[in-house]
This record gives sequence, structure tokens and C-alpha cells, in this order.
Amino acid sequence: MATESAERLRGVYRDLHAHPELSFQEHRTAGIAAAWLRESGFEVIEPVGTTGVAGLLRNGPGPTVLLRADMDALPVREATGLPYASTVDGVMHACGHDMHVTCLLGAAAALAGSRADWSGTVTVVLQPAEELAQGAAAMVADGLFERIPRPDVVLGQHVAPLPAGTIGLRPGPAFAATDSLRVTLYGSGGHGSRPETTVDPVVMAAATVLRLQGIVAREVSGNDTAVVTVGALNAGTKNNIIPDDAELLLSVRTFDTEVRGRVLAAIERIVRAEAQASGARQQPRIEQTESAPAVLNDPAAAERTRAALAAVVGAGRVVDPGPVTGSEDVGVLAAAAGAPLVFWLLGGADPAAFEGASSPSELARVVAGLPSNHSPRYAPVEEPTISVGVAALASAARHWLD
Ligand SMILES: [Zn+2]
Ligand SMILES: [Zn+2]
Repeated sequence: MATESAERLRGVYRDLHAHPELSFQEHRTAGIAAAWLRESGFEVIEPVGTTGVAGLLRNGPGPTVLLRADMDALPVREATGLPYASTVDGVMHACGHDMHVTCLLGAAAALAGSRADWSGTVTVVLQPAEELAQGAAAMVADGLFERIPRPDVVLGQHVAPLPAGTIGLRPGPAFAATDSLRVTLYGSGGHGSRPETTVDPVVMAAATVLRLQGIVAREVSGNDTAVVTVGALNAGTKNNIIPDDAELLLSVRTFDTEVRGRVLAAIERIVRAEAQASGARQQPRIEQTESAPAVLNDPAAAERTRAALAAVVGAGRVVDPGPVTGSEDVGVLAAAAGAPLVFWLLGGADPAAFEGASSPSELARVVAGLPSNHSPRYAPVEEPTISVGVAALASAARHWLD
């Protein structure tokens, strides 16, 4: 029986992996999840927030637990060479959200199948568009918590390049806040041979990029964490044309609200000052395109959940991964519900890669050499990742139910 359900889940995982869908387009994935939940005895509410799915299993009086998975894939061309690699050109489950969906469906079925042993309400949320940091907010705005009961705790996991069979749990700030900015710098174009008649936005953009790197180096304390990355610099079309404008796309990561405010203010100050230094006649435009708060694991709830996770993998295999500068919008669900959040890392890397590595620095070296989430070569091992991910969610939920 256990083997049969494990085989079935592996089939679900391979199917989802082969058919990735971009943010807010997760129609097929949502359909698979909704059908599975109905078959398991859940009441299904859909769509919530464009393509989101919520499931509800009432099983007598007691606490309410929310289990969350995200569903979207990324615009990445897969290069894993796996037999179940993406069949959609240029789209890939490069962040492992197919693993999150698979594990959540497995846990939902396990909890439904063990109804005689617990009392309370299990809600599950399959969220769209985590990669845009918009899906959780879209579900909340579409009345998620008017359509399912408010939970006493929000639980979830993200697959990560830790050894499979290991779980990373960090109380307090666990994942960074993310802010994406689009900066448009306005120059004044002209012939490449006559720069004196222009305000060159290419030079303005280059100076701005370099100066922005001073924020983390010179304005953030060595005790705080911040990342400022300019991921795109777009300007111009041809060697001998000075363009009218330039565009910078920035990604900012912070853990602390005060540091976040300081970094965002410094970006605005530098962008405006560099434009002025270049003699721009028009103020630059700064737009915030994406934003998600830091993932803050409630310390008491995290300690309470740790025992449930240790029961699955062993106490020695629940490790503190340190703060992660990656980001997640799961905190939006917990904040909207007014519930504590516990969000952990699910090891997905082949344990064989870690053989012989025992010290923290050796382990870190192995992790650094593995393809990370968002890489075209990112490929978690199916087992024991799926079975541990299912058991971790089910065990954590059971720990909070009566
Ligand atoms: Zn991602
Ligand atoms: Zn992700």
C-alpha cells in the first residue's frame, strides 16, 4: 500500500515536472491538485486568486492547520537531461515547486486516510505565482480567508540544496524580504559623434550601477544583511546612436525592516543624484514592481514543530541553515490569517554528493558546487525527497491537530 502510493506520487511529480506552467497560468497543475483533493475527501474551493486552489477537510472540533505549496515554474530552458524533463520549451520547474505540490498532495491524502486518529480542520492552499511574489496576495485579495477558516498555524516547505533526508529550520527571520525595482533614467539622445549635444543615459546608467554597489559596502552595518543586485541594464540600439533613456532592473534583499527602509532610500538618493550629476533634464522614474516581506518563523511555533520534523528524519537531521537571502511570499498568507508561520527547507540534493563531507565548511563547499534553485540544471532527487516532504508536512500538521 505504502509502495503503491509512493509510486503514484512519483508519477504525479514526473507529470508536473514535464508540464511546467508559468506564474498565474497554472491551470493544468491546479486541475490535477483539485481532482486529487476531491478524491481524497476534501472540499475544494477554486479558483482563488486566478489559478489558486484551496482544500478543506473538516474532521470534528479542534484546531485548524493550513498547509501551503506554490505551483509556478520559471522561464528557464531545462538542461537536466532527465527522462521526465520539461516538454515546454523555455519553461522549467527550476525552483522545485512541482516537488512542493507533490508533497502537499501526498500529505493531504495521508491526513485524510488517518482521520480516525485526529480531530480538527486541515486546510491546504496551492498558490499561484510565488515567483512574482504576487500569488499569496492575489489569493488573500480574492477572499481566501472568507472562504476557508482562519488557521491557528501556517506550515510550508521549500526544497533546497541540502542533502535529501535533512530538514533546515530556522526560528525568527528565515528568508529575506524582496523588493524589485525598475529604474528609468532619462537622458537626451543624439548622434554618437556629437556627445556634447546629448545627455548620455548609458554613462548615467553605468555610473549609477557602480555607485549602487556602495550601499551595502558603505552604508549597511557589518552586523546586518542586505543584497543589492542590478540584474538588467538596458539601453541603446546601435554603436553611433546615443539613446534617450536607459533602464535598470534591481533586486533588493533584506531581513530587517529598518535596514530595508535605509537601503531603498539610499537607492533613490543615488539614482536621483547621478541623474543630476549627468545634467539630466528630467527626473528618473523609480517603480516598485514586486515586493514580499521577510519570512519570519514564529520562534515558539517553530520549536513546537521541530519535534514533529525530528520524528520524521531524526533530531540530528533537523539543522539550522542560517538566514537565506532567497525570498518567499508565504508570509503574506500568515500575516493575512493573523497566524504564526513555520516554513522549513526540505533537503533535495543527492546524499551521495555529501559523502565524506562532515565539517560545516566541507558541507558548505559541496552545496556551493551543486546547481542551485533557478539553475537550468537544478534537479532534486525524487527519493527520499518526496517521502520525507510528505511525512514532514503530515507530521507537522498532526502535531498541531488534536
Ligand atoms: Zn524560485
Ligand atoms: Zn521557489
